[in-house]
Amino acid sequence: MVTIYDTTLRDGTQGTGISYSTLDKLRVAEKLDDFGVHYIEGGWPGSNPKDAAFFDEAAKRTWKKAKITAFGMTRRGKMKVEDDPQVKMLLDAKTPAVTIVGKTWPLHVTEVFQVTLEENLAMIADTVAYLKKHGREVLYDAEHFFDSFREDPEYSLKTIKAAQDAGADLVVLCETNGGALPEFIEDVTRKAIAHLGRPVGIHTHNDGGVGVANALAAIRAGACQVQGTINGYGERVGNCNLVTVMPNLQIKMGIDLGIDLTRLRELSYFIDELANVPHDIRAPYVGLAAFTHKGGLHVHAVQKLARTYEHVDPSLVGNERIITISDMSGQSNVLIKAEGMGFKFAKGAPEVQKILAEVKRLESEGCEFEAAEASFEMLIRKQLGQFKPSFELIEYHSTHRHRGGVNGFETCEATVKIDIGGQHVYTVDEGDGPVNALDKALRKALVTAYPAIEVMRLADYKVRIIDSGSGTAAKTRVLITSTDGNATWSTVGVSYNIIDASWKALVDGIEYFIAKSAAETA
Ligand SMILES: [Zn+2]
Repeated sequence: MVTIYDTTLRDGTQGTGISYSTLDKLRVAEKLDDFGVHYIEGGWPGSNPKDAAFFDEAAKRTWKKAKITAFGMTRRGKMKVEDDPQVKMLLDAKTPAVTIVGKTWPLHVTEVFQVTLEENLAMIADTVAYLKKHGREVLYDAEHFFDSFREDPEYSLKTIKAAQDAGADLVVLCETNGGALPEFIEDVTRKAIAHLGRPVGIHTHNDGGVGVANALAAIRAGACQVQGTINGYGERVGNCNLVTVMPNLQIKMGIDLGIDLTRLRELSYFIDELANVPHDIRAPYVGLAAFTHKGGLHVHAVQKLARTYEHVDPSLVGNERIITISDMSGQSNVLIKAEGMGFKFAKGAPEVQKILAEVKRLESEGCEFEAAEASFEMLIRKQLGQFKPSFELIEYHSTHRHRGGVNGFETCEATVKIDIGGQHVYTVDEGDGPVNALDKALRKALVTAYPAIEVMRLADYKVRIIDSGSGTAAKTRVLITSTDGNATWSTVGVSYNIIDASWKALVDGIEYFIAKSAAETA
């Protein structure tokens, strides 16, 4: 058994262009827990308030399988461990497991930490022992283990032995600079395991393009845990990509992870959507192009016998074969997702074709439904005739006024005219931005007829410009997350105009909530 340790929320967020709000972090953690990873490193509580807020919230929730893990450093030099505020914050995070990173490389110990090699060993041992005494499962990340081993194997082994002797549950060898090659990793990992007399974990980076290969090499040498990030996010060129490493381990190497990989593609897309980064179409296993066959000869061969041009069955990782000449792709994913929401379809039912056509149409316009489940559910209800709009739009209007000079100000105002069951309602409101003003005006117009929406508010708003690639003007995609204080749900809107895209996502979010509230009170 090999365990999967996800650090998307810590190492992953150190990547350029990757940023998650606290709410995003909770959604990512929930998704990872659902998926079945064994550890979720939530962040570094001593490093920023967003991470501390995450751990406060995480401590209140129950997690299905994953252990939420806080990350930090060994105590500072020449200081008692109980006096180190950074270590205290690790305990305050109230997680079942804690990972601490410590120095292995003498160069770093004496130059960066400016402590003696002996003091460094004491820093490792004290911190591990202290966290163990407080009932935590302790993982010890040996930073720069491989670079250090090259120069001073004896001292490198001493550091991890110090962690183990102090009670660490697992020592994790880190290939921090990402430049080592698999053969070396395998050899050194084998030596470390022999020295400790127990398996270790492996944490690799992808600077040489072999982050995944290095993790696999360590597993061959007997490692029992892989640390990495979803989609390979991380500093510089990124961490070991768990989305690639997991199927390699479970499908190719026959190592049981206890994880159902048929939701792998969905997970990969979800994490990208929340980080607001475009998917890599060439991502191994899960990319759009991973099982796309274009050339006529390949298409013909693959249709006769899939393994002629496919290394695995795409359905094992939730992906699918796309034959670019046909227009039938996307079917199984859409149906699996809809059935997951509780919809049931008879085999070959005509409404299935209608739903697929609508999904295809919206996706070709730039919609993405992986992180916008509420819009997806609304789409299905509309196609099934199960949706009755709670209002008809007559018109809306929003303005942004910016006055210069010393008494300058900015204000946004919106008006909304709607028809609720034959009654015209006309409201106006102001907000911080045009979308905020529209949202307020629309909810004001609806609240008398639908008092339930009083508690609803916007929790998050994300905009992405999508390059249409067709030479026409770029489109805007808006992803809105709404909340009623308990549940959260997300909706998507696409348009050439940011206000219009936002309006679509807003209306979907409100309609979804009204329909859900009506179903609950019925
Ligand atoms: Zn790292």
